[in-house]
Amino acid sequence: MVSDEKVMEIAKALQGLSPEEQQDKFNELVQGLSPEEQKEVIEKLTGGNGGGGECPFCGMVEGKIPVKKVYEDNKVMAILDINPATKGHVLVFPKKHVALMTQLDETIAGHLFDVANKLSGILFEELGAQGTNVVVSNGAIAGQKAPHALINIIPRFEGDKVAISWQGEKAEEGDLEEVREKISNRAKNISMSEPKEEKFVEEEPRIP
Ligand SMILES: [Zn+2]
Repeated sequence: MVSDEKVMEIAKALQGLSPEEQQDKFNELVQGLSPEEQKEVIEKLTGGNGGGGECPFCGMVEGKIPVKKVYEDNKVMAILDINPATKGHVLVFPKKHVALMTQLDETIAGHLFDVANKLSGILFEELGAQGTNVVVSNGAIAGQKAPHALINIIPRFEGDKVAISWQGEKAEEGDLEEVREKISNRAKNISMSEPKEEKFVEEEPRIP
């Protein structure tokens, strides 16, 4: 598994280079990585608009590509998928380009999910959906097809052809504990990056 930071570092190093120079620089930077990891970096880079190609979603934000818009504010946009899984399949995405949802600034991530959740409620009410799937796929291996991070909101109806499933297998107690420890140690930092508190403190002295 290659960290997003590493991928970003490589993407930055390749910026402004010719294709040949990019190839040489790329080979140099991924030398220490396994073939699987190299493949992962390539997928993230090409999927992440790192190859210099136009991102269609950024084109939509800029108004260069026509869309069936259902919602827009200064941070996010929501459109109808033109190849919907079911009628009313909505895509919600940040206006700022990020390849993976994990690269998204947390205040935008929070807002993005809030908008997605409200649109999901609207699909129940306006389209008579019996359920919704709110899906984020990170990386090609997870089924991400767009180079721009987005949330799929798929309204569900009796007899539709949507399949989102996996077969769970009983885990060993030791494995669960090892994984739990790894994740929870890092996750301790999640609540430390709460940005609202700071802003409030900053403005406090202005109160007479
Ligand atoms: Zn984009």
